Amino acid sequence: MSLTLTVDGERWRRHLRATLDAEPALVPVCKGNGYGLTLGRLARRAAWLGVDTIAVGTYAELPELATRYGGRLLVLTPWRPFTPPLEESLRDRVIHTVSRPEDLAGLLAQQPGARYVLERMTSMRRHGLSARELWDLAPRTRGGSGGGRLEGVALHLPLQHGGHLAEATRLLNDVVGAGLGPTAERPFTVWVSHLTGGELASLRAAYPDFTIRPRTGTALWLGDRDALEVTSTVLDVHPVERGDDFGYRSRTVPKAGHLLIVSGGTAHGIGLESPTGDSSLRARAATLARGGLDAAGFVRSPFTIDGKQRLFAEPPHMQASMLFLPAGARVPEVGEQVGVRVRFTTTVVDRVVVS
Ligand SMILES: *Cc1c(COP(=O)(O)O)cnc(C)c1O
Repeated sequence: MSLTLTVDGERWRRHLRATLDAEPALVPVCKGNGYGLTLGRLARRAAWLGVDTIAVGTYAELPELATRYGGRLLVLTPWRPFTPPLEESLRDRVIHTVSRPEDLAGLLAQQPGARYVLERMTSMRRHGLSARELWDLAPRTRGGSGGGRLEGVALHLPLQHGGHLAEATRLLNDVVGAGLGPTAERPFTVWVSHLTGGELASLRAAYPDFTIRPRTGTALWLGDRDALEVTSTVLDVHPVERGDDFGYRSRTVPKAGHLLIVSGGTAHGIGLESPTGDSSLRARAATLARGGLDAAGFVRSPFTIDGKQRLFAEPPHMQASMLFLPAGARVPEVGEQVGVRVRFTTTVVDRVVVS
């Protein structure tokens, strides 16, 4: 009676293994809704893959991951003065991200000897130090008073694949210019995101002293889409005639067919991109322009029946959706599974079934 993600376990694990084999330095990213697979499952898989480090989205996610995975945890959200101190048991395992000059002293005051990376600002402009700030901060990372353990530099590049080599090169030159790099005691890691295999190879050739490690989520966990399928359960089927009333807003059925009630609604993240009850002329015109509205004013849904994308009879409810099936189409039975096209990162399923 639910929205179900079915994973072809064998195929999924084969893809995970192959991805790690091709890029052994990869750092799996485990964050948010676990890319639709749940955080706990990703943590256990990371342990199974045998990686030494995973990247975690936020401090709040640490407890759920740290009990299922025993290695190092790189927190992607930068440390701030309002970040609560870590539990004692996590202190040796967590690598903090420092993205503002003043936060290094703050972090080391809160947790002397903390492990951390310095994040350099990229064209993303989300978080990070300028070249100048990196330069100024570098001398304070070299052991001595207060300690702390520098674990490298982090670069978060935009999504567009390819074309990042020039930017990454410029940013790494800033790292070298700041005097940061490997020492006799310790290698120096550059943690990057969204570089292609070719770009990684070029950077490694150009900076052989640096250990370059890609932080990867989507291409790892969701890289073989055919191993994953989301389905919804048909909960009810009602034949309707033209003119019948239905729904929260007492709309009128425009033509004969069936109303289908299927599991999956706003609480699962279904249909949030469709207009929600906004029947203003402008909203409808905008939807029509995108090709999402049929002549009767129904909006395209992510649910598919017999391979055909079906229409919402009205905006999704909290845990179920109402679909309109025109006369002539095969009518599924209660209990049948129908397909759903979802964005995994914004969908919360009721059940994950791994075969
Ligand atoms: C989410 C995230 C990643 C991973 O992104 P994917 O596109 O899922 O591979 C890498 N680095 C940072 C900083 C992130 O926030």
